[in-house]
Amino acid sequence: MSKTYIEKANELPIYDECDILVVGGGAAGHSAAVAAARANPNASVILMERYGFFGGDVTGGYVLFIPTLNWRTYPLIRGNLEEWFTRLKKNAPESYIGPDYPYVGKDNPYICRKYELYEACVNEREDPHVPLRTLYIEPNQLKLEMDAMVQEQKNIKILFHSWGTKPVVEDGKITGVIFESKAGRQVVKAKIVIDATGDGDIYSQCCAFHGESGIIDLDHRDNQTALVWRVGGVNYEYFGRLRLNDQKTFRAWIEDLWEFCGYKTIFFPTGVDGVVWFNNWLLNKSCISLEDMRDSELLVRNSIRPILQYCKETLPQCFKDAYLYDIAPQLGVRLSRRLDGKKFMTPLDSACNTAFDDVIAWTSGFGAPVEIPYSCIIPSDKGVDNLICPGRHISADPVAISGLQLIPQSTQTGQAAGVAAGVAIADGTTAKTVDIKKVQTILSEEQDVVLPRMPRTDKAMVEELEAINYGRDSEFAKKVRQANGLDW
Ligand SMILES: Cc1cc2nc3c(=O)[nH]c(=O)nc-3n(C[C@H](O)[C@H](O)[C@H](O)COP(=O)(O)OP(=O)(O)OC[C@H]3O[C@@H](n4cnc5c(N)ncnc54)[C@H](O)[C@@H]3O)c2cc1C
Repeated sequence: MSKTYIEKANELPIYDECDILVVGGGAAGHSAAVAAARANPNASVILMERYGFFGGDVTGGYVLFIPTLNWRTYPLIRGNLEEWFTRLKKNAPESYIGPDYPYVGKDNPYICRKYELYEACVNEREDPHVPLRTLYIEPNQLKLEMDAMVQEQKNIKILFHSWGTKPVVEDGKITGVIFESKAGRQVVKAKIVIDATGDGDIYSQCCAFHGESGIIDLDHRDNQTALVWRVGGVNYEYFGRLRLNDQKTFRAWIEDLWEFCGYKTIFFPTGVDGVVWFNNWLLNKSCISLEDMRDSELLVRNSIRPILQYCKETLPQCFKDAYLYDIAPQLGVRLSRRLDGKKFMTPLDSACNTAFDDVIAWTSGFGAPVEIPYSCIIPSDKGVDNLICPGRHISADPVAISGLQLIPQSTQTGQAAGVAAGVAIADGTTAKTVDIKKVQTILSEEQDVVLPRMPRTDKAMVEELEAINYGRDSEFAKKVRQANGLDW
């Protein structure tokens, strides 16, 4: 048994009291706070964030690629996420790249040509190719918009540089969070807490969860950290054309690069001309182990100069004038703990396209949209009440989570968490007993979220979905069902 130290009981100052406390200001937490404040303008909201900016993995980890917000020609994921782009388009149009509606999903060779160099902006598997609502963004410009979205809500108070460390639980309900900052250890009391830390920092101390060791059960893409860095002075067009016209050389160059680095890495464009971001996949690294996080930081930083030199020598057409532009201010964390929620999502829910009465988001799936229920962001019956847990740490198995923890899903579950908290405060209900129909109505009618079985949802899209039985008959769906012993 490792050594322990017994901390003495002590009195903590109550820093503040509010209706809704959101811990973590990433894609999910930011969306939750904004949605809560808008859904219930009388509610007081505190948004607590350990760093001095919002966006988490997106603006701090430099995840600069946001995939597939459409289904065919229809906008599928909108709400707070689409608002990022509406604002960027108005205030800093040069800071993102990607096909716009109404071109999305439609045969248009000019638009396809415009975006063909940007991976996943064009669906190359369809004939003819069609543009997708997939975007590449500039993170600092997005930080400014995320600041503005919060500051415009007069009922949100921001707490930066504050690290939520422990839930306060009384009579089976969470009633606040202890946090640490330069000002010491204090408490924020709240009627509802939204844990949007991404790693279940709060719920892991008062609810059951999965992935306890931090290393999750299967070897798949989420069992990995990353430290993203950007390079300027790059002729990306050369690389993009290589991908399109000479797959053999393109693949061979990438594989040689991986061998040179000792880990998987590849670069993508950004919202800024001549600047690319180097994504990387550091295998079997826990996102909550101090040692693994330290090793990830050092492994990547130690390799930046050698990689840049290697790129200059082996691909001068692209990297001749390249220079290190910057390094992401925070480690990229893909996944650690997952909630043990009222509903535990599995690949069957995607493949069978389960319809949920408490659906709160519709998100891109394999061939057809997939429904995400409220019950997978709420602790199971064993867990406390008045706690909602949106974002990349929701309740799902290690396979299903891969499709549920991306930026679109995180903003969507965050938005729904915020509206649910706002409704519960207004009605005097709890996170577990909230009127979900009211939550769905506000999401659909007031907050621009596309949801199934709602009057506002585009009837033409519903007809197209019904015609393909919501993707339930696809080859992919059949394979997953067979693998799980289901034969229908
Ligand atoms: C390298 C990499 C590449 C990826 N590629 C893609 C991609 O191409 N497309 C895509 O859509 N998704 C991608 N993802 C996944 C996606 O970026 C994340 O899953 C998503 O952004 C998670 O959002 P979140 O708000 O749930 O969590 P986070 O972004 O982790 O936000 C959590 C926030 O909480 C704060 N916080 C954490 N703990 C505390 C605490 N105790 N107290 C106070 N604040 C706290 C953090 O600082 C952060 O701001 C990628 C992820 C990584 C790391």
